[in-house]
Amino acid sequence: MTKETLEIAQGSLDPADWHDMREQGHRMLDDMFDYLEQIRQRPVWQQAPQAVRAVFQQPLPGSGSNLAAVHETFMQDILPYAVGNAHPGFMGWVHGGGTPVGMLAEMLAAGLNANLGGRDQMPVEVERQVMRWVRDLFGFPDTASGLFVTGTSMANLIAVLVARTAALGGEVRRQGVAASGKRLTAYASAGAHGCIAQAMDLAGLGLDALRVIPMNGQFQMDMGALAAAVAQDRESGYTPFFIAGTAGSVDVGAIDDLTALADYARREALWFHIDGAYGALAMLSPQLAPLLAGLERADSVAFDFHKWGQVPYDAGFILVRDGALHFDTFASPAAYLRREACGIAAGSPWPCDFGPDLSRGFRALKTWFTLQVYGADRLGESIAKTCALGQYLKQRIEATPELELLAPVALNIVCFRYRCTDADKVNAAIVIAIQESGIAAPSSTTINGKLAIRAAIVNHRTDTADIDALIAATLKFGRNIVNNKDDNDY
Ligand SMILES: *Cc1c(COP(=O)(O)O)cnc(C)c1O
Repeated sequence: MTKETLEIAQGSLDPADWHDMREQGHRMLDDMFDYLEQIRQRPVWQQAPQAVRAVFQQPLPGSGSNLAAVHETFMQDILPYAVGNAHPGFMGWVHGGGTPVGMLAEMLAAGLNANLGGRDQMPVEVERQVMRWVRDLFGFPDTASGLFVTGTSMANLIAVLVARTAALGGEVRRQGVAASGKRLTAYASAGAHGCIAQAMDLAGLGLDALRVIPMNGQFQMDMGALAAAVAQDRESGYTPFFIAGTAGSVDVGAIDDLTALADYARREALWFHIDGAYGALAMLSPQLAPLLAGLERADSVAFDFHKWGQVPYDAGFILVRDGALHFDTFASPAAYLRREACGIAAGSPWPCDFGPDLSRGFRALKTWFTLQVYGADRLGESIAKTCALGQYLKQRIEATPELELLAPVALNIVCFRYRCTDADKVNAAIVIAIQESGIAAPSSTTINGKLAIRAAIVNHRTDTADIDALIAATLKFGRNIVNNKDDNDY
């Protein structure tokens, strides 16, 4: 390109007409308020038809379309076909419901477009304030550190890495695990989430280095079996280093005996981590908090604001008792990340010194808004309400002879099934029939070898009427499937 022909195009992506943008933006906001206000009138979930899927097979557009048209596609072809976790009838897996406050805060965060990797900026102070709130709520010392991450899967990985540094020293970062000559082993109950095993894999320790400890009748880690496994490993020349207790297991909502685990970990000089993905925030409810006794003694706690905290996805968090060790596990000096005493590059240490992400979104803002606007008490009440609904569902199951409870209800997760012959097949079909009906959305799991209908009541919008609808749908589809069994096509 010669100097004569050099032309710089009008490259800004901002609108030529802010007035139109403003009007369209208000319409989009109103559509989402309508969605949340009228969500009960929608099916919980519906499968997207082929014609809708085809819309998403179009190639990358060369020239753009107008915002209103793209928004219309969102309204017609995306919004109606989400998984449905904002709906009060959604009880599948463990999903939070979100709130309008979180939605608005997310819009503010996107507008500001802050990068929370570090530097001297108030958005980082917001994240630090949330960390201090969590620290106080969980009874951790002032020297603890914390970080927003995508979710508990990432938080558990960070915990394994910090514990690895504690076990092998800082050299492990340069030399790798193999150079230590030690074979590290970790321990979690059979009810622990699969991401703990994945964290062992990702940390280079290997899936086999996670010892799966059997559960007792309350679906808690069996302490005797844990001690036996650790002793056996020591005798065989392994180096036990990490115990992951679970506070709110994904299958049944069980809470390991955290006090016993804390005592045991201290005696054996092992890192005591807690996967409190959804359960740890029960600390917000004075009624439920005593169930988590021992949590304040953990070396690290992983949990999600996007489950019981109702913050829109994603908002996971890792809290580490020894902030210096946490820093030493991740901080990496680089010339382009040089710190200064003043100017924009001040304010060290930065969030990027505590995890693998450099560029980071402003997850803290939607969390901060949620905690500010609703307050700890109201959030705690909504958590306690989901547990009360769990008890209500349990009572309804026990009062219905056609239904059978399959696990104790420690918190908000209820596993049950329709009694019949060939129950595994029938109950799997019932779950799918309920999901496809749009009435409710349970999921399924396996409890003591039996296929269970699993209702995880996490959404703050869920009420007794939604529980009644789930029971009615289970009975209706159960009877239908059993009566048409000869077709054998369920
Ligand atoms: C949901 C969950 C996880 C995984 O958390 P993500 O936020 O989905 O990464 C881990 N453990 C338990 C007990 C969970 O409920």
